[in-house]
Amino acid sequence: MTIINHFISGAEAAGSGTATKPVFNPATGAVTAELRLASAADLDTTVAAAKKAAESWGDISLAKRTAVLFKFRELVASHVEELAQLITSEHGKVLNDAKGEIGRGLDVIEFACGIPQLLKGEYSDQVSTGIDVFSFREPVGVVAGITPFNFPVMVPLWMAPMAIATGNAFILKPSHRVPSTAMLMAELWKEAGLPDGVFQVLHGDRDVVSGLLTHPDVDAISFVGSTPVARHITEVATAHGKRVQALGGAKNHAIVMPDADLDNAADHLAAAAFGSAGQRCMAISVAVAVGDAADLLVKKVQERALDVKVKNGTEADADMGPVISPESRDFIVKTVSEAEAAGAAMVVDGRDLVVPGHEEGFWVGPTVIDHVKTEMSAYQEEIFGPVLVVVRVNDLEEGIRLINSNPYGNGTAIFTSSGAAARKFQRSVDVGMIGINVPLPVPVAYYSFGGWKASLFGDKHIYGPEGVSFYTRGKVITSRWPETNHASGASYNFPSN
Ligand code: NAD
Repeated sequence: MTIINHFISGAEAAGSGTATKPVFNPATGAVTAELRLASAADLDTTVAAAKKAAESWGDISLAKRTAVLFKFRELVASHVEELAQLITSEHGKVLNDAKGEIGRGLDVIEFACGIPQLLKGEYSDQVSTGIDVFSFREPVGVVAGITPFNFPVMVPLWMAPMAIATGNAFILKPSHRVPSTAMLMAELWKEAGLPDGVFQVLHGDRDVVSGLLTHPDVDAISFVGSTPVARHITEVATAHGKRVQALGGAKNHAIVMPDADLDNAADHLAAAAFGSAGQRCMAISVAVAVGDAADLLVKKVQERALDVKVKNGTEADADMGPVISPESRDFIVKTVSEAEAAGAAMVVDGRDLVVPGHEEGFWVGPTVIDHVKTEMSAYQEEIFGPVLVVVRVNDLEEGIRLINSNPYGNGTAIFTSSGAAARKFQRSVDVGMIGINVPLPVPVAYYSFGGWKASLFGDKHIYGPEGVSFYTRGKVITSRWPETNHASGASYNFPSN
């Protein structure tokens, strides 16, 4: 049995923890490895190494920092195949989708390579006679990143390159379900020349997370995961004086207007609902069909859902793989059954899917449910599976009210051929990331990613310019260099110009 260790002070480390957790291949149901869980002593060792490393790394020249980032970028790019295989074996998503998430991670590394430009401060000459004011930003110190199962490479890369480029040491606590890519990325950072202790990996469960949230030498927490955990992380970490950004769950709606190209909308809806088995925080899980778009749209989405090839993600023609765990499958099936019992219409039913040769895998097929009402659990819960619910509304205004009444505000989209409808939508929805005829509007790396309401706690979005701001603290210097050294006499008034 493969044992997965931690990565502490530049090397794999077994640590002193005795507990382990099994790691599964969701397509086969087989246990592929045992993951070591860190003890409290391992946590202390890791944080101490990070604190020491942060002192020298934060002081190193920008030229040397960026040399490491450029090298890391090359190494990740040359290990896409290996990283994708690891993602598919532990997460289940199809290989091309795994490569897609690595591509989005590479975008963030490339953005971080431009850190000298991003860290440029401001300078004001002669603000008062003989006085200049200037500003710069310094690293916060030790950053811990706690990441979810659904993007084993991309989400850690939303955080680590930005935290490291800005001069911090970074401790990654990955999801116990997908630990292997974190270890490979640790090796690649080391090969890129990153000093020991600047990037470390500590595996564990809620005890390790609690230790990070309360440790006096951890300065900032970046979290991505479900909303209840994001809320808890924010409350505990802020109570312990840390800065926190905690991205939570989602229930992303897409409005389809009667004037939309319905074939195009159905293609995008199917891809955004069933890609990665619906396990994306930006997945579209609610189609809001406006007026007489509904019947034809549902028929077109049905045709596409029935066409999705659900297979082991390693197979070349697979469109969709399994869901992450038996618990997740059971929750999805239960929620779909509740909607059916409450009177919703089953258009496509993936509950009983069996994939030949993979009977022990964690499967749910694409599922489409029409005539869903807001009081049903299928509307209220983040199902996080390949399930698209259709809610019918009379007009755009009703669709916008629906979206704004939802507690989440991560992503949303509108399909329309009307610029006026699109503009009204973009200005009226209480959502952080909006697509106009684009179903998964994940911002490029030089913008920042973040939702509103229960989809994000804290006030900084992740990566991009807001990432730079989150991982640094500003200093403003007011400076006077008198040309002659003579006392001007003490003034007891508040300084004025
Ligand atoms: P999760 O909240 O269960 O776990 C996320 C991380 O928190 C993991 O590392 C896990 O070990 C840790 N954790 C879990 N329970 C904890 C607890 N009680 N105390 C402390 N730590 C705990 O999320 P998941 O199931 O791994 O991922 C899916 C969720 O993540 C979905 O809700 C999805 O929408 C969300 N997500 C959001 C974004 C975003 O950008 N907003 C991106 C990806 C995923």
